Amino acid sequence: MSIKENISEIMVNIPDDVTLIAVSKTKSVEQITEAYHCGIRDFGENKVQELIEKIDVLPKDIRWHLIGHLQRNKVKYIVGKVELIHSLDSVRLLQEIENQYKKNECVVNALIQINIGNEDSKTGVDYEELEELLKACQGCESVKIKGLMAIIPICTEEECKIYFHKMKTIFDSISSRNLPNIEMKYLSMGMTDDYKIAIQEGSNMVRVGTGIFGERYKIINAGGVEKCVQR
Ligand SMILES: *Cc1c(COP(=O)(O)O)cnc(C)c1O
Repeated sequence: MSIKENISEIMVNIPDDVTLIAVSKTKSVEQITEAYHCGIRDFGENKVQELIEKIDVLPKDIRWHLIGHLQRNKVKYIVGKVELIHSLDSVRLLQEIENQYKKNECVVNALIQINIGNEDSKTGVDYEELEELLKACQGCESVKIKGLMAIIPICTEEECKIYFHKMKTIFDSISSRNLPNIEMKYLSMGMTDDYKIAIQEGSNMVRVGTGIFGERYKIINAGGVEKCVQR
């Protein structure tokens, strides 16, 4: 299946009010360009270095989403370049984003990432940290909170539903509190294997990589390829 065919097939499953982000990490400029020519304007990357290299050479009307863990020392490189940071996961990171954007008289939209599966290996805040982070966000001028993001554990369809449902509940509950500087507009959840379930459970922003561009591989040694599970 070509990128074009993949996109057409996915578009059928995505209502107009849901944003499709094509996750292009590890994929080439040519592949991204192909998706761009199919009308895709939202692309997701998880590494700052790779992101800025691609921004430099690809069309200026692309909306770039930073979906991977953001290290504080990398924040300065993305100022003014991304549409949405999906991975706000600590007060310390928030402060660095606020400082860097303020210094450059820029504003950025961000989503709070929730570690909904309580996994040690995953980034994102737990319930306690969420309250602390929400509090800190209310005092920011250069970071605008626009919703929540989650990467759920690998699980069965039934379990997926439960995680997505939990996210929607948190999303609605924050929304009803009408906190200053915190708007619950985007709920970013759902990837290739589960985006349809995520949409059913209230997601309005899905991040699809493999389903559009095919599997991600990395070459590990001469002649050998390994499926790149990390990325
Ligand atoms: C890689 C990645 C995706 C896309 O995963 P696929 O299973 O290839 O669709 C979505 N979200 C995040 C945060 C990712 O790192």
